[in-house]
Amino acid sequence: MSSRYTLTPDGRTRVTVIPGDGIGPEVVDATRRILDAAGVRIAWEEHQAGASVFRQGLATGVPEATIRSIRETRVALKGPLETPVGYGEKSANVTLRKLFETFGNVRPVRRLPGVPTPFSDRPIDLVVVRENVEDLYAGIEHMQTPGVAQCLKLMSRKGCEKIVRLAFEVARAEGRKKVHCATKANIMKLTEGLMKRTFEEVAKEYPDLEAHHIIIDNCCHQLVRTPEQFDVIVTSNMNGDIMSDLTSGLVGGLGFAPGANLGSEVAIFEAVHGSAPKHAGKDVINPTAMLLSGLMMLRHIDEFEAAELIENALYVTLAEGAHTRDVKPAGALGTRAFTDRIIGNL
Ligand code: NAD
Repeated sequence: MSSRYTLTPDGRTRVTVIPGDGIGPEVVDATRRILDAAGVRIAWEEHQAGASVFRQGLATGVPEATIRSIRETRVALKGPLETPVGYGEKSANVTLRKLFETFGNVRPVRRLPGVPTPFSDRPIDLVVVRENVEDLYAGIEHMQTPGVAQCLKLMSRKGCEKIVRLAFEVARAEGRKKVHCATKANIMKLTEGLMKRTFEEVAKEYPDLEAHHIIIDNCCHQLVRTPEQFDVIVTSNMNGDIMSDLTSGLVGGLGFAPGANLGSEVAIFEAVHGSAPKHAGKDVINPTAMLLSGLMMLRHIDEFEAAELIENALYVTLAEGAHTRDVKPAGALGTRAFTDRIIGNL
């Protein structure tokens, strides 16, 4: 057993599960059902975070019991959490990322069988590695004077080194060939420039991998024109947040974009998408992004065979033309029926 996760006395892997807000409970339930049907031995420990917690008056959005559970299990599967807009509460997502120092957000983007997109004939298989705790999301934002607001962009040499190193390690572990570092170093010479310089230094330790710096706006342009040229892209927090919604669009949309928040102690797996409140409770949304996040989690807890089995069942299901409404407006399956089809193909 790895120290990355813990077991119950009867040998099941302990996983903290947070259903989340909006469509969260539906996609998390679908993922749990598929993992359980595949026979993975997980002891799910369900805890809350997000809107329901804010409503109870807890300003961080994450109760102590949830924090304790993640600290113990070291592995969490998390539904999306709604961020309150325009009033005092913080984002529960940001609270979790900072608390557990999950500095790296790994977001794979892979073409899937049977999912029609304008890029269907392109061999897209890339990973966005997004810095997850610094930059404009460090939370230092205030009104200067009435009518003028200020937000500080905070980046450290240590933070840049950790994320850049993670990107090179992901590339090596997955047998990939190159890493692009996408920054706005041409304009923000000190902050974004720090990431560029750190990337160029750390790259010398990975002579087996090609290392390229690219300006973020050009990177977005290239991603839409020739996405197949990219392998691993490392970038700062806000750039990565925006870019990974773009890259999800290359392979069918947010319904297909998984992610992992990695720290040195804890890993939290979640889809790129948010709580999509207008679709909540309607049995229409696509659970694939959360399922793919669950597969990343299975590999993290050394359940490689189960991950393979489920991935194949998903691919067969998609190749059969079974889709939710985001892919196929007419004749679509509901979330539950789509989940049942995957289970039937296990
Ligand atoms: P969103 O990602 O929730 O939804 C945008 C649109 O994408 C939806 O209206 C829907 O059309 C589509 N979509 C998203 N997920 C889908 C799925 N699984 N299947 C099919 N279609 C899907 O973005 P938003 O509306 O900007 O944000 C809603 C809330 O979620 C906000 O409060 C935001 O702060 C929060 N959010 C949370 C996370 C997170 O918890 N990690 C991430 C992003 C946004």
